Amino acid sequence: MKITAVEPIHLRVPVVEAIPDGTLDVLVVRIETDAGITGIGEVTSQSYVCKACFEAPRSAARRHGLTSILIGEDPLDPQRLWEKMYYETNRYGRRGAAIHAISGADIALWDIKGKAEGKPIYELLGGAQRTTVRAYASVLFGDTPDDTAALAREFVELGLTAAKFGWGPFGKDAATDLAHVQAARDVLGEERDLMVDAGHAWDLPTAVARAELLAPLGIAWLEEPLAQDDRKGYAALCPISPVPIAAGEGDVTHYDFEDLIERGVHVVQPDVAFCGGLTVCRRVSDMCQTHGRRAVPHCFSTGINLCASLHWMASVPNGDLVEYCLRPSPLMRKLVKNLPPLVNGRVPVPAGPGLGIELDEDIIHEFRVK
Ligand code: MG
Repeated sequence: MKITAVEPIHLRVPVVEAIPDGTLDVLVVRIETDAGITGIGEVTSQSYVCKACFEAPRSAARRHGLTSILIGEDPLDPQRLWEKMYYETNRYGRRGAAIHAISGADIALWDIKGKAEGKPIYELLGGAQRTTVRAYASVLFGDTPDDTAALAREFVELGLTAAKFGWGPFGKDAATDLAHVQAARDVLGEERDLMVDAGHAWDLPTAVARAELLAPLGIAWLEEPLAQDDRKGYAALCPISPVPIAAGEGDVTHYDFEDLIERGVHVVQPDVAFCGGLTVCRRVSDMCQTHGRRAVPHCFSTGINLCASLHWMASVPNGDLVEYCLRPSPLMRKLVKNLPPLVNGRVPVPAGPGLGIELDEDIIHEFRVK
């Protein structure tokens, strides 16, 4: 089998606000083969830049566009092609937009392999540990603790058993932080998991103090308390923190995650449509397995990302958790025709070959950037 075409498709809703919402502007990647099998992937990054990473022509060594690297290759060994894409882009890639773009190609290659072998991707990644995955939803803290409590009530009514609150007014003042987390905990009760995303708010001494303040409320993890590049800070915080520390939604490649694990981060959060794809995610969960850590997908864009994350989590022994995005964007809610629903706080893993999804061509037509 040979790759005959690679099509990066830029989708964007008419109004994209400058808010942390990955559901408004995405790059879908379609890879076609001479066997008539088509693979689908997604990139959650700067779509214009990542589209150029595909379309750039062949150049001198290690600075080629991704399409020129992939055309004519056998798509059935995604890990070999990951190494080839990584190496052949390394003058402009390694840790930036080229890796984000590789994510979309890599997901599409796994989709092709699954379709060619008649197997869902989780079978290719090591077999099913489960056929549904527990969901958690995330939202910004409310303006007041009462607002935060109201948001928690919505999650309970949706049947979720885990919820994450972050950013917004959180992080500036200890008493305010405690009031918000207490408000969420009071509504969620002891039986549901509560995660807190600090949004890089603190320096090391403040992070230690806040972790100690929030620990009695039983939070499942404290996410990104420090700046993403404060690696020394994470190394100092993780061994003494009374709550598990999570990080990694902005990291790429298994090399970055190896570093986070070495620095003691308890929960790492690769985004499959950003970190380098399923090939990287599998390497990261294998490392987590070896080191007694946990990988939980960051997932906040379209149903393609959700389904790739579900296949990954279905195959990982301690992988029973996925972020489930509740944003109303049509790119999240309608792009994948058979978007897996939330059922009693869990999400079914698509059972068909490959990703097991079908895209809505009308949505692609409506939102495609011409
Ligand atoms: Mg986060």
